[in-house]
Amino acid sequence: MVKCRDIFQKIADFIYPPVCPLCNTGVSTHGEFCADCWTAVNWIDGPHCAKCGYPFAPGYDFDDNMLCPVCASGKNELDWIRSACVYDDASKQIMLPFKHAGKIKYARAMSNAMIWALRDIDVSNLDVVMPVPLAWRRLFHRGYNQAALLARPIARVMNCLIDYDSVRRKYRADMGHKNAAQRARNIHGVFRVVRPDKIRGKHILLVDDVMTSGATFSELRRVLMRAGAASVSGVSFCRVVRGM
Ligand SMILES: [Zn+2]
Ligand SMILES: [Zn+2]
Repeated sequence: MVKCRDIFQKIADFIYPPVCPLCNTGVSTHGEFCADCWTAVNWIDGPHCAKCGYPFAPGYDFDDNMLCPVCASGKNELDWIRSACVYDDASKQIMLPFKHAGKIKYARAMSNAMIWALRDIDVSNLDVVMPVPLAWRRLFHRGYNQAALLARPIARVMNCLIDYDSVRRKYRADMGHKNAAQRARNIHGVFRVVRPDKIRGKHILLVDDVMTSGATFSELRRVLMRAGAASVSGVSFCRVVRGM
């Protein structure tokens, strides 16, 4: 039987044919990059750390449970983290306009790539998808929380609640060129749980656009676990990859 939704989708596709959000080339479905744009990005599709998703060099002799040195030393406290691609010149062409120039039309293809990045994870126990909160001042200037735009389709696919308001974030100056230790210090204490009733006992997936040192995810996990969360994991569109 043909569903109403399918008919509406066909009409919508006729009026607004699906195109790659980056270059406007026609594609088969909404929310995907065209083959050329997809090939340009350094997707994390090979061997990676079982816990944080850190990509190992191609040809690395690995098994599915191998951990990177950071996770092996117990410094990563999230249950797991995955990212769709490496933060480099190619992904910046997506990230920077999306974050700073209002190109919110990229969100659907980006979040589809993030769902793809979770392919080796059992997500069936997740209850809540939480975009990393933005301070009010930044939200006011930017007009949107880019993490929330990415989180919405992910929550829909996973059939999870989305939580925008259980945690507030204080404004602090940009962390642009700080190292990992400075980032950890700068982020410490910025998050505050205001709705612990929505956090207690929940398995929470954090969503962010970019993971730099992991300090934001770690600090948010700290306050959520203190408020009684059952587990905290994370997914980002891209991540900074430094040699270990
Ligand atoms: Zn394209
Ligand atoms: Zn790791």
